[in-house]
Amino acid sequence: MQTFKTESKKLLDLMINSIYTNKEIFLRELISNASDAEDKLYFKSLTDKSIELSRNDLTIGISFDKDARTVTVSDHGIGMDRDALEKNLGTIAHSDSQEFKAAQAAAEKAQTDQAASEGDKAAAEGTATKDAVDIIGQFGVGFYSAFMVAKEVRVVTKPYGSKEAWEWTSDGVEGYTIEPAEKEGFGTDVILTLKDNEGDENYDTYLTEYGLKDLVKRYSNYVHYPIQMMVTKSRQKPKPEDAGDDYKPEYEQYEELETVNSMTPIWKRRKSEVSQEEYNEFYKSQFHDYTDPARVISVHAEGALSYDVLLFIPSRAPFDLWSKDYKKGLELYSSNVLIMEKCEDLLPDYFNFVRGVVDSQDLSLNISRETLQQNGQLRAIARHVEKKIQQELEKMLKNDREDYEKFWDNFGRTIKYGIYTSYGMNKDTLGKLLLFYSAKEQKMVTLAEYIEAMPEGQKAIYYAAGESTEKLGKMPMVKAVLGKGYDVLLCTQDVDDFCFQTMQNYEEKDLKNVANGDLDLESESDKTAAEEATKENEGLFTAMKDALGDKVKRVAVSSVLTDAPACLTADGPISLEMEKIMAGMPDSDQVKSERVLEINAKHPVFEVLKSAQAAGDAEKVKDYTDLLYNQALLVEGLPIDDPVAFAQEVCKLMK
Ligand code: ADP
Ligand code: MG
Repeated sequence: MQTFKTESKKLLDLMINSIYTNKEIFLRELISNASDAEDKLYFKSLTDKSIELSRNDLTIGISFDKDARTVTVSDHGIGMDRDALEKNLGTIAHSDSQEFKAAQAAAEKAQTDQAASEGDKAAAEGTATKDAVDIIGQFGVGFYSAFMVAKEVRVVTKPYGSKEAWEWTSDGVEGYTIEPAEKEGFGTDVILTLKDNEGDENYDTYLTEYGLKDLVKRYSNYVHYPIQMMVTKSRQKPKPEDAGDDYKPEYEQYEELETVNSMTPIWKRRKSEVSQEEYNEFYKSQFHDYTDPARVISVHAEGALSYDVLLFIPSRAPFDLWSKDYKKGLELYSSNVLIMEKCEDLLPDYFNFVRGVVDSQDLSLNISRETLQQNGQLRAIARHVEKKIQQELEKMLKNDREDYEKFWDNFGRTIKYGIYTSYGMNKDTLGKLLLFYSAKEQKMVTLAEYIEAMPEGQKAIYYAAGESTEKLGKMPMVKAVLGKGYDVLLCTQDVDDFCFQTMQNYEEKDLKNVANGDLDLESESDKTAAEEATKENEGLFTAMKDALGDKVKRVAVSSVLTDAPACLTADGPISLEMEKIMAGMPDSDQVKSERVLEINAKHPVFEVLKSAQAAGDAEKVKDYTDLLYNQALLVEGLPIDDPVAFAQEVCKLMK
């Protein structure tokens, strides 16, 4: 027996026990090696005429034997002679594939350079090898991942055209043996004897048709050689000719060779070459949705960093989108092999609902192929992905309003949260995507449409936040603003007010909550009139403020109210709506808005208050102030501090 070198032993131990977080990738690694081996033979056949090969010969086989606890991966690839076995499998971290790839790249470059210098562009582009080979291996460690699940690995291999076969055997601990062997055709069989089950570790799933198929589909679905498995199927037996009327169909089981992987990655194909039907099917099976996607985005980038991207905007929100377990991310492939199921870095939070695939053979993977070494590459792709999604949404908004409104119903909230949580940084781009209900138009409008429809003299964008558009439509301040001829956006999601507050303005127009004072609404003369009226009745307002105590910051004449006798507004950054929402969150009862009770000086009630004050009836002033305040709270949808006292006041008035 050849023993592994000491360093190799340590490395092997590290490999098996800590490099990978996920044991099941062993199959991906063995299939990748099989694919590489077939690529190499195919490549050789292009120049070596003694190799008679059609691409159809190149298949990868997977089989298992439950009793013997073995899983076998077979290929018809280049195979290994004794020396190659020694070099490739006896030395850990030696990658023949890496060398092959480098040599090939050099050859290609030479060919291209030569063609270029001869001015023969067609030949440079027509290098048959370019697309033919897609070598996956590079670190020279993937093979050893087999020892995560196997107590013994045997490799039986015969190079193409050779008469000698060899068998390499190892337990993955001490060393290995290489001995002459018998093998019919060329290529390599890798035979794993699985470990015994132990505690939580159950290897039996790798000894089932379903378990193996599932792994192939998940990790190696797009390897470009057919991965075949003998599967058991059931069929109806032919009906005997002499069958009577009471004949019941009989079934029999039979075995059939099935290709498990789908090979051509749909994301590598141009959008014009793929039917909507194919995209729909791919989306539904890959991302476990039962409805067709709303939009498909396909991107092909070429250059120093080449990649293909296929994105889907779902047509309904996944049920767990708002649960804290929801994980955003795109599937990341490198050379058609799955690297990460949900690569979070590829999607910004505000587009977390997008599903899809990114594939690039230029990624510098780390050794376990579970993460990348250079995040710059990912960032570049992520930026492109984000831009494409933004563009697609803008296009949908412009050309297909109905679809967009459905999209907005599903995912509008996510985008608003995106503006809020990024402190308004993306408001210029994401702001274009916002839709709100217009009180004037009675339909959803964009901020641009709102601004477009603003009458001359209107300086700000007005909105009201609350429970429902019906209730908001009845709010005194909403009516007052509408009365001016200005539209009001009626916002009914909890995030709306926060979103607008972080944005502060859009296209240089301030965003103003109508429930906050200072609406920039009234003409200068209205303002002065209100200020004068407040000053004239200073005694009354001081008495009213005293009656309410800490509940309000001040009482003043409103310059905008038309029908209602009074309303509440908020001074400062915290609106009444925000206070309401924060009250529903844990540990936030400290957050209080600074309330102002605004009185309509044109309302008959004001005359009643004034005469009570003039008559020195302090009790009446207090009672009526309480009534007005509570009434304003009710209209705002805020709770009354003491409903019983309020009811008694009302009764007193009736008597
Ligand atoms: P990598 O694939 O990154 O090169 P591996 O540890 O997976 O590293 O494999 C090491 C080397 O063993 C490969 O580079 C290749 O030369 C050789 N090898 C592994 N599996 C096969 C196979 N099925 N057929 C031929 N050669 C193989
Ligand atoms: Mg490999």
